[in-house]
Amino acid sequence: MFGQGLIKGLQITWKEFWTKKFTVQYPDEQHPVPERFHGRFVLDVDKCIACSLCANACPNKVINLKREKVGKKQFLTEYVMNIQYCMFCGLCVEACNKDALHFSQDFNMNQYFYRDIPLVLVRREAPAEPEEEQAGKTGEKPQRQAKAKKQAEPAAAEAAAGKDPGKEGQ
Ligand code: SF4
Ligand code: SF4
Repeated sequence: MFGQGLIKGLQITWKEFWTKKFTVQYPDEQHPVPERFHGRFVLDVDKCIACSLCANACPNKVINLKREKVGKKQFLTEYVMNIQYCMFCGLCVEACNKDALHFSQDFNMNQYFYRDIPLVLVRREAPAEPEEEQAGKTGEKPQRQAKAKKQAEPAAAEAAAGKDPGKEGQ
């Protein structure tokens, strides 16, 4: 009967009016995001060795990366994710043995234009020569150079003060 249905509906409305509200005024307010939420990807370029393990692990072929050989190492020049095909399954993150690829808690990845959807994590030029050679063209590793510089500093200071470091203790 029409009257009974109306009363039942109003009863539910009345009951729900007094229950705790779980909705928020998004985007002014936001619900807290769980710590392990699968949101926008972030890539630590310093850790990434351009090995392609993540790209090979992806069942949807979302990840496209480009690399160039610089000296003896591979240099990552481009890392683009066609995020519209991503299931956020996390297989790529699990596959990375350098801990370079992560999920963030940012879920807001909407774009106005289709062309802006791919997530460009890296796009850069490869250097002409390896980092070590750029550091001094001596073939020494930067850490070794820093150590040598540290050792040379006291001797240089003594020389400037008029002492001969080789004759010390004579
Ligand atoms: S989360 Fe899954 S679907 Fe998305 S890029 Fe990684 S492996 Fe591919
Ligand atoms: S993110 Fe990890 S798995 Fe992917 S290319 Fe870089 S180091 Fe390799």
